[in-house]
Amino acid sequence: MTREELELWVKKRGIDNGYVIVVKRSKNKSLWLHCHRSGESKSIATQRKTGSKKIKCPFLLIGFYDGNAWKLEATNPEHNHGLAQHLEGYAYARRLSESEYRLVEQLSAQDMEARKM
Ligand SMILES: [Zn+2]
Repeated sequence: MTREELELWVKKRGIDNGYVIVVKRSKNKSLWLHCHRSGESKSIATQRKTGSKKIKCPFLLIGFYDGNAWKLEATNPEHNHGLAQHLEGYAYARRLSESEYRLVEQLSAQDMEARKM
């Protein structure tokens, strides 16, 4: 697995579990991933723009290349908040898998509102 694949896998697993994981630092042989709610909010205006409050979430994963393969370590597996409620606001959360796409097609054939899907 390459660093990019590891990054995508972690983000996908995050979305599957209701959390938005973002890259904090990325180097040749290491990859730090934290929660999008880590850090501190700069201002109310920034919160409105990004739609999420940063509340110093301590969740942190560190991936590193040991010369042979990428390893992933949960430095801190805990979030200090519940699941993300507005995943649809994130471009990569909006991407659908093939089976989800088929489901959307089916639902739209049944006249369901896009918002409810
Ligand atoms: Zn978090």
